Amino acid sequence: MPIASIKSKTIAAAVLCLALLLGSMVLHGPARAAEASVARNEPKRVLMLHSFGREFRPWSEYSRSIKAELERQSPVPLDVQEHSLLASRYNNPGPEEPFVDYLQSLYQDAPPDVVLSIGAPASRFVQRYRSKLFPNAPTVLTVVEQRLVNRADLTDNDVVVSVHNDFMAAFENILRLLPDTRNVAVVIGASPLERFWADEVRRELKPLEARIGLDWYSDLSFEQILNRAAKLPPHTVLFWGLMSVDAAGIIHESDIALRSLHAVANVPIFSYQEPFFGGGSVGGPMHSIAETTEKTVSAAVRVLGGEKPANIKYEPIAFATPKYDWRELKRWGIRESRLPPGSEVLFREPSLWERYRLQMLLITAVFLVQSGLITGLLHERRRRRLAEVESRQRLAELAHVNRYSAVGELTTSIAHELNQPLGSILTNAETAELMLKDASPDLDEIRNILADIRRDDQRASEVIRRLRSVLKKTPFEISEIELNATVGEAVGLVAAATDGQRIGLTYMPALVDLHIKGDPVHLQQVVLNVVINALDAVSDTDMARREVRLSTVRAGNQAEIRIADTGPGIAASDLANVFNPFFTTKAKGMGMGLAIARTIVEAHHGTIDVENRPSGGALFTIRLPIVR
Ligand code: ADP
Repeated sequence: MPIASIKSKTIAAAVLCLALLLGSMVLHGPARAAEASVARNEPKRVLMLHSFGREFRPWSEYSRSIKAELERQSPVPLDVQEHSLLASRYNNPGPEEPFVDYLQSLYQDAPPDVVLSIGAPASRFVQRYRSKLFPNAPTVLTVVEQRLVNRADLTDNDVVVSVHNDFMAAFENILRLLPDTRNVAVVIGASPLERFWADEVRRELKPLEARIGLDWYSDLSFEQILNRAAKLPPHTVLFWGLMSVDAAGIIHESDIALRSLHAVANVPIFSYQEPFFGGGSVGGPMHSIAETTEKTVSAAVRVLGGEKPANIKYEPIAFATPKYDWRELKRWGIRESRLPPGSEVLFREPSLWERYRLQMLLITAVFLVQSGLITGLLHERRRRRLAEVESRQRLAELAHVNRYSAVGELTTSIAHELNQPLGSILTNAETAELMLKDASPDLDEIRNILADIRRDDQRASEVIRRLRSVLKKTPFEISEIELNATVGEAVGLVAAATDGQRIGLTYMPALVDLHIKGDPVHLQQVVLNVVINALDAVSDTDMARREVRLSTVRAGNQAEIRIADTGPGIAASDLANVFNPFFTTKAKGMGMGLAIARTIVEAHHGTIDVENRPSGGALFTIRLPIVR
């Protein structure tokens, strides 16, 4: 074969190979790229193994927080699968093999990228069965007390996030807050794990033996524990260690047990676990969920990122800064000054002032405004009272002057009224004297004459009494009076004035008593003013028709005084003015009589009106409220 031909064949083969290679790259390139991207987006499998169950306190609170934080912090998507070791829930755990077989069937072909064990039983389980279940998977053994870590079986593929239960610190907290404590009732359940812890507590607290007595509740059912807790002696506290399974085999999963204990206990409850804080425990140094979460999540993320577990090491986590429940401190009278410096007090209830500040401010403002208004109104009322008193005083004074003028008008009739009895007295006295000069005077006759003298004297005295009473300068005084009698007295005063002028003055009192509230002197003045006007009016008319008629009646719950005359009446245009001050049609009139009358009647809560009678003359009607 010529060299050139061999060469060309070799080149052709090389070109073919290159073409095939390129072809295959063109064909497979995108598929590989897709594969790589799938690998990048494929979720990492996280197996979370719970010791007692997903909802079992206190572990549930740690695992919940760890899961949430891990999902939040992981740079890659996660597929978190959770399983629970139920065997630890029982005082006599059964065989574990079926559970192991189940997990093996799940993870044989797709082992987890990281195994997270929560709690000591789960960490033991992982260590025991890892070679069978997931021999190459890295593990993070978390929420496990350092004493329960099986160090002998730890591998380079394990991270341990352990905690340290410092029972001495927990009890020192109790004694710091309540130095008088003499007894601590320790609530710890009856499962093998809990019995282990009861022994640990007992061992650690040896140094306190002389100072406090310890009562152990591991052998009691929870019902018995509740009974005891309700009747504990003074200076005792309850220490809530762990209550997973009680002596009766009852499982206490959530925090219901602690809450029931809190409801009945007559002493404070202490615990060193944050998951029980806020549900009834007073507080103190405790394991912090946040700190354990932070370390666990950081370890898991680093392991998932490819870091060697052996390189990640943590010291056992100690109790965090003490936290206290304000409500419990209040309930048991523990002063905040007893708390260690730097401790945190939570669940503070806002004071009434803090809670209702706005409402209280509003109410105060309303009160202030209201009291201001009340004070103002009281002041106003006082001023009105004073003004009323003053106006009444003025009215009384004016009325007094007016009465003088009214009585002045009656002078003739009063003089007549007085003259008559005085004249009779004189005549009778003279007659008696003459009779006594007789040798045998008629004593019976003289006795009759003396009786007449006495009667006339009483008549004159009565006229003077009435005059004095009507001229009395009295303040306005309201009392309960009988109106028929009051009007009668006023009529008595003017009666004599009508005789000389041949005026018929009649008075018809109501047949029933009319009780009203009023000042008799002032009301008599009203009657006098109206009657004197009526007498004036009729004195101008025909002799045959000179009549003034007074009457009182009851109209509903009002008493009426009617004064009618046969005078000329009032001109229609004057009807609206007669009660106005200084309105008069008389040459020597003052025009104050009716104005004063109206003021007095209105001060009695009554009314005074006038109208012209159809038969002629005016009719004045005074209405006053009846009291009974
Ligand atoms: P005076 O009697 O000083 O005029 P009054 O206030 O008592 O003051 O009366 C006011 C006016 O009312 C009288 O001037 C008169 O014109 C009228 N008047 C009052 N009573 C009667 C009456 N019975 N008949 C007619 N006019 C009357």
